Amino acid sequence: MTVDISQVEQAVIPNIWLSDGIYRNLLHLCDDLGHRFGGSDSEHQAAEYLRQKMVEYGLTNVHLEEFPMYTWERGDCEIMLTGPVERHLSTMAMPYCPSVDMEGDVVDVGEGEAADFERVGDAIRGKIVLTDAESGRPGGESKSHRTDKYRQAVDGGAIACVFLNLNPGLLHITGALYAKNPGGPNVEDHEAPIPGVGISWESGSLVRRMAERGPLKMRIKTNNKTVKSHSNNVVGDIRGGELANEIVLFGGHYDGHDVAQGAGDDAAGTLVGLEVGRVLAPFAGQFKRTIRIICFGCEEIGLLGSFHHADEYAKHPDEKLVWVMNLDSAGNGPGGYEHVNTTADPGLVPYFEQWAKDHHYAFEARSGLSAHSDHFPFFLKGYPSGSLASRNPNRGMIGRGFGHTEADTVDKVNLRGLQMCAIFAARVAATLANDTEFAPPSRSQDEVRALLEEKNQADLLEHHWGRDNRADV
Ligand SMILES: [Zn+2]
Repeated sequence: MTVDISQVEQAVIPNIWLSDGIYRNLLHLCDDLGHRFGGSDSEHQAAEYLRQKMVEYGLTNVHLEEFPMYTWERGDCEIMLTGPVERHLSTMAMPYCPSVDMEGDVVDVGEGEAADFERVGDAIRGKIVLTDAESGRPGGESKSHRTDKYRQAVDGGAIACVFLNLNPGLLHITGALYAKNPGGPNVEDHEAPIPGVGISWESGSLVRRMAERGPLKMRIKTNNKTVKSHSNNVVGDIRGGELANEIVLFGGHYDGHDVAQGAGDDAAGTLVGLEVGRVLAPFAGQFKRTIRIICFGCEEIGLLGSFHHADEYAKHPDEKLVWVMNLDSAGNGPGGYEHVNTTADPGLVPYFEQWAKDHHYAFEARSGLSAHSDHFPFFLKGYPSGSLASRNPNRGMIGRGFGHTEADTVDKVNLRGLQMCAIFAARVAATLANDTEFAPPSRSQDEVRALLEEKNQADLLEHHWGRDNRADV
């Protein structure tokens, strides 16, 4: 006998709405434990805290899923303009940046889209590249990820890459670089091939103005360390009934960047997932399928936790992964602006649109393919996946906004936004766990390859920009 979902909703909606536990968990992760950078002590402590909470909330099969990886420790970093004027600029090395003290000429590639690199051609060889860090300039091309731009710079023979934050406020931008020798056995293999540093909009604008005047020289001095460590995914179940071997997976990444609290990206999404676990755990055995809650480690430095977890299912042929719902940036913002994105499967959009009507909760349902969050390793293996996330319509910022800067802090997240998203996610999780009509087909490796080829990204099947900082592949 399975449970009536409307009765579940009658219980979980007030349960979430009347509790501030999700916000207290946010304060603990961000204010007490700190940045939770992948492989750091702060991340390890957060994993243990999340594990304890899952036990306290009554989830079962609660465990840490440990995996070896290479982490990175930040040292000092500065940029000096050495001509035509001398100026010290504050800057921030990006994860896996090697230690250097180098000087070179600067070539500005603007937005850093493929066409921009084509335009400058060989002019970047032996030079320091200056590029927009992110995409999303109004009227801009908006295609490339930071790592795409970095790869173009490396392939073009540049000696360093300077990433300019597109949002004002003297905020440096960070984001992991990729390994020099992916999968290599030595620590040095896991350092980035050339230095990458982030600078603020204001410093970047100054550099750009100077570069317009004529040849510009820059010195980059930074001191960092790549070291072997480990990380964990945190896993817990709400065991299903008649189809307990079918798994509906919900979760976000609890790691952050070392320069901030990672509140919106992604303590918020992690805690939305944990809250779903808290309110649905009392219904264990009553849903048809098992709802598995996961908190991914090391998303920011290459989706290491989700690559690891996606591999785990091969060891459990009895389990069928029906759906993966990535909660990266869920619960960030004021609430009421959630969306569901189905990974490269527009055929599923009408299902979620109908859900919105039936449940009287408006949200945007859409379909797209992004390689840059924790749903992606599952997509590569052919598992059906999507993401459920929130946005902040009031902020008016470009790209990630405060994400990946020092300003991704608790004060940008609020209880109401977390509660609204957790209610939405819990209702969707309950539905997907019980509705056997919802059974998107898995894809074969050929189908995955064909989809990626359509987008000129078939190489991602063999190599992903960050996964190789796992130490077990
Ligand atoms: Zn994230």
